[in-house]
Amino acid sequence: METDYLIVGAGAVGLSFADTLIEQDPDCHITFVDKHAKPGGHWNDAYGFVALHQPSATYGVNSLPFPHEHIDTHGPNKGLRALASGAEVLAYFETVMNSQLLPTGRVSYLPSTAFEGMDGDRIATVRALFSGKESRIKVRRKLVDATFYQTSVPSTHKRQFDVADGVEVVPPGDLPRLWQRGTDQPKHYVILGAGKTAMDTGVWLIQQGIDPAAISWVRPRESWIWNREYTQPGEENLEKIVGMQIAILEAAGEAQDGAELMGMLGQQGYYLRIDESVEPEMYHFATISQGEVDILRRIENVIRNGRVTAIEPGKLVFADNEVDVPEGALFIDCTARAVPITAGRDDRPVFDGDTILLQPLHVPAVVFSAALAAFLEVNFDNDDERNALARPGPLTDTPSTFPYAHLVTMMNRGAWSQNEAIGRWFATSRLDFTGPTVAKLAAENSPRLAIFAKFQKAARKHMPDIVRLGMQAKAIHDAR
Ligand SMILES: Cc1cc2nc3c(=O)[nH]c(=O)nc-3n(C[C@H](O)[C@H](O)[C@H](O)COP(=O)(O)OP(=O)(O)OC[C@H]3O[C@@H](n4cnc5c(N)ncnc54)[C@H](O)[C@@H]3O)c2cc1C
Repeated sequence: METDYLIVGAGAVGLSFADTLIEQDPDCHITFVDKHAKPGGHWNDAYGFVALHQPSATYGVNSLPFPHEHIDTHGPNKGLRALASGAEVLAYFETVMNSQLLPTGRVSYLPSTAFEGMDGDRIATVRALFSGKESRIKVRRKLVDATFYQTSVPSTHKRQFDVADGVEVVPPGDLPRLWQRGTDQPKHYVILGAGKTAMDTGVWLIQQGIDPAAISWVRPRESWIWNREYTQPGEENLEKIVGMQIAILEAAGEAQDGAELMGMLGQQGYYLRIDESVEPEMYHFATISQGEVDILRRIENVIRNGRVTAIEPGKLVFADNEVDVPEGALFIDCTARAVPITAGRDDRPVFDGDTILLQPLHVPAVVFSAALAAFLEVNFDNDDERNALARPGPLTDTPSTFPYAHLVTMMNRGAWSQNEAIGRWFATSRLDFTGPTVAKLAAENSPRLAIFAKFQKAARKHMPDIVRLGMQAKAIHDAR
């Protein structure tokens, strides 16, 4: 077998890269290799009630919108752009592979196959998982590593706590099957973890009619969560999106550190938190609606003792103490780290000779970043030019380190804004929050573009503050 680009990983990131690559360079040949049996990566292993937390309008691949990009009319996301369910995301990625990429005749796909390595002659070794058969693939141009994010989900991760006999711990994916127990339902539920999966689980339990008093929630850290109202793409939301960027710049002018910056933005409603009396120590770029926060606030039994080290019948064990919970409680493991911080511990560039390592260029827009990397690959002559436009952004996870991610994103955005070819591509890119809207308003010579003059004024004044906070945050991030 021979191919131009061997892409390891047919998840969202690999597919987004391939979609733009084949559109920009229709003559190239691509081969995907992936351990999963179907495209979509971790979405194959997700819990049944998982959904995108960002609007599907800016997720997926550039060439294909999701089928339901309407405004939600009911539920806690009411009034905001629809979020695709996990099943919709999987169906979407199957369509991308089966109806868009494979029919070009220029894409091969090896599912249920592991990539084992590539030698100095660019011969890659892959192994079919079920038969064990090894094959070699000659990579004519580049190996594309689309596994950087090391996505971890509850159904596949390794638990970091002990579980005694007789204790029932399930991943959230098992909850929708509880109906099979008829009236023999758990009397109490304990959610373990403070991230978005735990939040989804809390909302789901309450939506099923479970009394919030029958739920305990182990939240080692409180989190800032991006108010979904400010992640809405489209012309009607331009002032909100750019307004938030201006607010970040202005807050940077006053804040002494990342925690203070996020606190100021939280006061203005750009970020939300479930418990306003606790200082957030976590920020993973998850988004949430005010409606979901209101539901989650109904869970009052919150246990803040750090991480669970063991679970025994009727008892949660922590490093320093133990907390009793009702006997026979069902424990729901939401402790998988969706994108482990170790994923950010790679100082390789995106473009490095015969390999491309897909990393965030606009944190946290991972699919947009992958599509842009493909655009840079085709339209620029050498790796120096490409890497100058593709500084890898760090995957920060706390308020105090967030300014580092924001700084790198702003530096990349600044570099892109100077490049006409990239600007033309943004204008047609559905994955970019503002590109198509800006192009349309520019064609109409709309007075609404004045918001960008305001942004530029704030950027000129406060970029030194963004650099100050960003470098301070980098020192904290690098030391961890
Ligand atoms: C529940 C959940 C919700 C999320 N929601 C959003 C959201 O709304 N918006 C957003 O931007 N991000 C979201 N994310 C972040 C998420 O990481 C990305 O959206 C995206 O799906 C990650 O795609 P990926 O391709 O990087 O990783 P994956 O989906 O993990 O795909 C990587 C693939 O590589 C394969 N692979 C790895 N190693 C090998 C090997 N050696 N050989 C062969 N194959 C290999 C794996 O089998 C896997 O299929 C969410 C994450 C989670 C867990």
